[in-house]
Amino acid sequence: MTTNCSFPNIPDDRLKRELLPETYQWCLTNGLVMYPINFQQEQTMIAPVTLYPTPLPRRSFESAEDVQKIYNELYAKISQDSGGWLTNETIKLANFDSEFTGKLWKLYLEAVKNGITQKLKLGVFRSDYLVDKRSTDIKQVEFNTVSVSFGGLSTKVGQLHNYLNETGSYSLGTKFYQQEIPTSESDSLLAKGLAAAVKKYDPVLENPIVAFITQDNERNVFDQRVIEYNLLKEYGIRSIRLTLDEVQERTYVKDEKRRLFVKSSDQEIALVYFRAGYSPTDFKSQISWDNRLVLETSYAIKAPDLMTQLSGTKKIQQLLTDELTLSKFIDDESTRRRILSTFVKIYPLDDTPLGKQGKKFALESPHKYVLKPQREGGGNNIYKGDIPDFLNKTPVDQWSAYVLMELIEPNSTEGNIVLRGNEMFKEPILSELGIFGCILFNETEVFYNEYAGWLLRSKFNSSNEGGVAAGFGCVDSIVLV
Ligand code: ADP
Ligand code: MG
Ligand code: MG
Repeated sequence: MTTNCSFPNIPDDRLKRELLPETYQWCLTNGLVMYPINFQQEQTMIAPVTLYPTPLPRRSFESAEDVQKIYNELYAKISQDSGGWLTNETIKLANFDSEFTGKLWKLYLEAVKNGITQKLKLGVFRSDYLVDKRSTDIKQVEFNTVSVSFGGLSTKVGQLHNYLNETGSYSLGTKFYQQEIPTSESDSLLAKGLAAAVKKYDPVLENPIVAFITQDNERNVFDQRVIEYNLLKEYGIRSIRLTLDEVQERTYVKDEKRRLFVKSSDQEIALVYFRAGYSPTDFKSQISWDNRLVLETSYAIKAPDLMTQLSGTKKIQQLLTDELTLSKFIDDESTRRRILSTFVKIYPLDDTPLGKQGKKFALESPHKYVLKPQREGGGNNIYKGDIPDFLNKTPVDQWSAYVLMELIEPNSTEGNIVLRGNEMFKEPILSELGIFGCILFNETEVFYNEYAGWLLRSKFNSSNEGGVAAGFGCVDSIVLV
């Protein structure tokens, strides 16, 4: 079923003559841009975007915003490892997923052995939802604890759609939408979260630096730069950008506290902000792993540290759907209910009773499910009818590395237009809402816990996945209905 919402109905010739040039020029002027695949430095193009904002029920939007601080605190508590729960679960998982979770876990153990001098940690999170088409309730797709992106560009796409609406580009000189097209404040709220960590690191330190750890050939530079420029403009905090492999070349560690400094300027790095290191391909060689350890054991605050990164696995999300487990972290029953109401069923594929049920569903009714490994960044899941074959080719003792998740069914929207490169698509889309949050904490206390804006990403109805940088989706904004 699709919803046919009201979108401007503009004939193709006028679209090409008026609205598209208007849109392209706004995007390029305002940095709503992304490098194309296999780019040269001098090439840019507009980021994949929708031409119009996509309708979303106000009720769903606000309920996702309202629950974010509870989610921030939940994941902070998990990372604090109260009762050793995260440790226990990660050790089990590390055995099944030795290739990545296992390596992160080993690195964490080495860091503990070398001594972790900085107890402050910054979580920069994004909780992603689809709106269930029957109830309009939000249902969580996943909770991201590392390298969450599009906080910068999300603001810009909201500004673009407001600009096009207010200038009458959608509707021959008059405003097409009378309803609110909100603009996400993630561009400044994420900078505010990073600044809070820098301030707490050392309130009197002069010229503190934030180190953005980025991927080689990063295509999403401009999304990151928005946050970097806001840090400078609003808080006077400077940043450097470096890849994992460049850490030893460009930084050094000094004294027993292991404070981290920039080599070229001798400025102290207060915060290491990871926009890389979430996937095995980000670790090109042993050097990358060694450098990740240098950062983890340095006195700079990490956003995130390894434990916080490890709290964001799909396995942890699956375990939290059990109320008894959730009650380890949330005492208050009504708060627990609010979190539980955002979950769909997620099954392990192990020998527990729930795991046996999961295996049965995976093999007998796969069309209702998605199978997820412990990976980030899009393109890793196995969908519906592909699940049984995939599992049959996987040794049974490795099935525990996956979780089986009920598919959420959002309404698809017809009438929007997706711009990718210089192409335009008029296919039905599905939209995923992400809510950002920042939380600064140590082993026992929380010092800062804030909502940090939102993101709407849309993808073609015909595609299973929605990652924008992975090439499956586009950045969208919202018209509240
Ligand atoms: P990643 O960490 O790689 O982003 P996700 O869990 O977000 O992994 O899955 C990738 C995409 O798969 C999502 O953006 C969404 O489009 C789709 N997807 C994941 N889980 C579900 C689900 N339960 N129901 C419907 N679609 C889903
Ligand atoms: Mg995702
Ligand atoms: Mg993810």
